[in-house]
Amino acid sequence: MSDPFAATRDLFELPEGLIYMVGNSLGAMPRGVKPRMAAMLGEEWGAQLVAGWNGAGWFDLPRRLGDRIGAMLGAAPGSVMVADSTTLNTFKLLVAALRLAPGRRVILSDKGNFPTDLYVAQGLAGMLGQGHRLETVAPEALEGAIGADVGVLLVTEVDYSTGRRHDVPALVARARAHGVPVVLDLCHSAGALPVDLTALGVEFAVGCGYKYLNGGPGAPSYAYVRPDLQADFASPLWGWMGHAAPFDFAPDYRPAEGINRLRVGTPPIVSMTALDAALDVWAGVDMAMVRTRSLAMSDAMIAAVEADCPGLELLTPRDHAARGSQVCFRFEHAYAAIRALMAEGVHGDFRAPHTMRFGLTPLYVSVAEAEEAGRRIARVINSRAWDRPEYHARTAVT
Ligand SMILES: *Cc1c(COP(=O)(O)O)cnc(C)c1O
Repeated sequence: MSDPFAATRDLFELPEGLIYMVGNSLGAMPRGVKPRMAAMLGEEWGAQLVAGWNGAGWFDLPRRLGDRIGAMLGAAPGSVMVADSTTLNTFKLLVAALRLAPGRRVILSDKGNFPTDLYVAQGLAGMLGQGHRLETVAPEALEGAIGADVGVLLVTEVDYSTGRRHDVPALVARARAHGVPVVLDLCHSAGALPVDLTALGVEFAVGCGYKYLNGGPGAPSYAYVRPDLQADFASPLWGWMGHAAPFDFAPDYRPAEGINRLRVGTPPIVSMTALDAALDVWAGVDMAMVRTRSLAMSDAMIAAVEADCPGLELLTPRDHAARGSQVCFRFEHAYAAIRALMAEGVHGDFRAPHTMRFGLTPLYVSVAEAEEAGRRIARVINSRAWDRPEYHARTAVT
């Protein structure tokens, strides 16, 4: 049987010989992005100038992109908007969610959540000045902590630092039983595993464009609002692009219809064009097959590491159901080991304080490469190749 992923790999620009396992931080560049950007710069911006807002469809691009991403996530057309960053969209959605549960003061999340999600919640709680507070519990305790005092559950399906995956349907069921709206962060889910927002029934969801969706550095984020909430939901950030009639230049804000309210300022069309082109690689891709291959990759990698280096502590759950699309190990000298691995042709990343993290992107990395990466990880640890002074000096971005 031919491997359908051999064809998707050819769609990406990747340096020869590199095993790239940081696609959960910055996805590889689909080859189609370059010609599309050249066309955008030449035929759109260069040739049409400001007329491109109408002539090249720039004005509607955020919504059109939202529908493309929404289709990958089981969301109805018109329920996803591409705008801003994940951090900003999380803020908007948290406010909208808290309005659905007035009088409740707890924003509930877990200690494994990505810091920016927690920071936004902390800042918002302080800003509201009504006694709101962020409560974080251990990931395993999140379900049990959902109760009648909770105003919103802010949960990231896959933990960025361990690869642990929450049982989202169970969390949503309990949240529903207690009248708690959910903001689901899909940063490490979209493009990594099957997501069905309609089936899940969550009120809100958010995620980023530059990880498994390969939209490029700083690619904009997407945000989902459940269709039945769109008539009433209110974004706290009132900008002219989210106005019902931006080009009336009216002095008073009037919210645009539905999901358009999530627009704030002028959208970054250059970035959105790259994201739009990058999404072409998903045509005909079956997410169930992506998931199967991702699990085969993580299994192969874990087995290879443990065969040669049984002492290395695995942070990622062994249970498939509880595993996202990454593998993480704890190692005292994780930073230096990641640097040493680069010299071995494996690109992973370091997460403070002691985590070696490897993202698995089935579209452009194979099971055999994941296994080979596992062997090289074991070799770097066993040989103490990491213990060279040049591997210990920290760079700004890890
Ligand atoms: C990557 C990531 C973010 C990034 O937010 P930005 O606003 O794009 O910087 C936020 N939340 C989670 C869970 C992430 O994994």
